[in-house]
Amino acid sequence: MRDEEELAAILRRIDGRGYKAYQDLRGSHRIGSVELFVDHVQGDPFAAPSRMRVRLPLGETGFRAETFRGDVRRVAFEDLLARRVRRAARALRPGTRGSGKSGEVSIDAGGQPVLERTAAKATGEWVEARLAVGLPAAGRRVLGREALGLLRDDLPRLAREGLCEGDRQAETEGFLDCAQNHRALQSQLAEHGLVAFLADGSLLPRQSGASEAPMREGAVRLRAPESLRVELELPCTVDGTSRVAGLGIREGVTLIVGGGYHGKSTLLRAIERGIHPHVPGDGREQVATLGSAVKVRAEDGRRVVGCDIHGFIADLPGGRSTRSFDSDDASGSTSQAAGIVEAIEAGASALLIDEDTSATNFMVRDARMQALVARDREPITPFVDRVRELWEGQGVSTVLVMGGSGDYFDVADTVIEMAEYVPRDVTRAAREIASRTATNRESDARRPLRPSIPRVPVAASVDPSKGRRDVHVEVRGLFELGFGTERVDLRALEQLVDPSQTRAIGHALAFAARRIMEPGRDVPEVLDALDALLDEDGLDALGARGDLARPRRFEIAAALSRLRSLRVEAR
Ligand code: ADP
Ligand code: MG
Repeated sequence: MRDEEELAAILRRIDGRGYKAYQDLRGSHRIGSVELFVDHVQGDPFAAPSRMRVRLPLGETGFRAETFRGDVRRVAFEDLLARRVRRAARALRPGTRGSGKSGEVSIDAGGQPVLERTAAKATGEWVEARLAVGLPAAGRRVLGREALGLLRDDLPRLAREGLCEGDRQAETEGFLDCAQNHRALQSQLAEHGLVAFLADGSLLPRQSGASEAPMREGAVRLRAPESLRVELELPCTVDGTSRVAGLGIREGVTLIVGGGYHGKSTLLRAIERGIHPHVPGDGREQVATLGSAVKVRAEDGRRVVGCDIHGFIADLPGGRSTRSFDSDDASGSTSQAAGIVEAIEAGASALLIDEDTSATNFMVRDARMQALVARDREPITPFVDRVRELWEGQGVSTVLVMGGSGDYFDVADTVIEMAEYVPRDVTRAAREIASRTATNRESDARRPLRPSIPRVPVAASVDPSKGRRDVHVEVRGLFELGFGTERVDLRALEQLVDPSQTRAIGHALAFAARRIMEPGRDVPEVLDALDALLDEDGLDALGARGDLARPRRFEIAAALSRLRSLRVEAR
């Protein structure tokens, strides 16, 4: 550990030299009570910035270890620290210290959801922020004096502003309580027979298709109909009360119906996002969904490999088997079938489906079409003929937005109508209509649904290397993952919420290919091992340098399944 004098001496010595001389900064420095770790020094002023950490002893921060005791509160606490450090970093006025990324300081803090991420870390002894820092340069020469100002003055000040409590105690408590309450709501779902819970007063619509911020004007707050209202408990009181009432989305088959533009997709979207806690003020703080609920959609053009979709698609022209279905260019219906089978393979206990992003021929085949096209000329068993078996035989619930076909009335346990953004329980009316007006269709299911066989991924086909680099993971936005020499399109993973999750998926796959996948180990077993590792040792266990946020096993599995190079074996 160097002291302030030594840091200054290094920078005086290398001032004006080539940029490479900055490598001498690697290691740790003590500046007052702040420890500065220089972990990686960028190759030149225009390259990805250097990686540094600033650390303060817990005793200096004004926080007490009890504040963030327990995994849920610690994760929220670290997420909050990253947000505060980001606020402080923005106040530094970046880009004023030379060429390229000189003087830029940033941290990978989150958006509306609260996620486990590597950007900040808190232990019983210290708190730490992980920064990307552009070391100052004039052209490609070291700017020693500027660097000294940055490292000796700015970063320690940033650490104190971002990592110390100051007078923000109420904000901290509110933020952590919010996350803890969300987790408590989530953990009460099963005992109440629910897939999701949305508290009365929640604000579901977003500002725009491009913003996850809450809609500001004219938003109708959620209010549950009496018959679907449930009451859950909150461990941390909110406005003096420890109980909260709201809309319970039950297990089994739930249909969300209603006229176009009446808020169906917005409700489903909120349910999709309820897998994560949200920041106070988001409007969805008390929307909680089973962590094993998975959004599935049609995605024509995707690759499918070794997928057992026979329950939905069988007897293809030419006698092609669908017990182990391969396609480099799947259709709407086969891609949606594969999405469902893969989600269940990864352990999904609920499917979330929107008609807006479904293949029509996968969802229904009405009586007239059945009359015209004989069953033996239609390979598809539509979802309407399988959705009950999924629930009754495999315990997999479905929440389905379906404004376009009443054929689902016969198979739904609950029917919710969205009318001018207000949910109504129309289950009984839908039943009456179903008994009065027959669909006249017959089930297209030829055989009972049998569980699909999990696949065994071949480690060698999951290759993260590129050129001389063993692991090449590159992220462009939320949905584009560069993995080795491949580009993986993740646009169908609608529950991905942060590009750092996308990056973590890349590193998780790289790690799994090297350390977890082995002959005979199927997809669920690989995911179990990854989850165990991440639960135990956190995201740092992936050994990646970049900023990571934790993805769910379902998104990791979905990315794996979309690798164009993936090969699988049957068990
Ligand atoms: P649907 O799926 O029924 O066609 P959407 O959920 O797409 O309808 O919603 C249509 C529009 O209404 C969207 O622009 C959405 O932002 C807005 N909206 C949805 N829910 C609400 C609400 N509770 N209050 C105000 N506007 C809403
Ligand atoms: Mg819609």
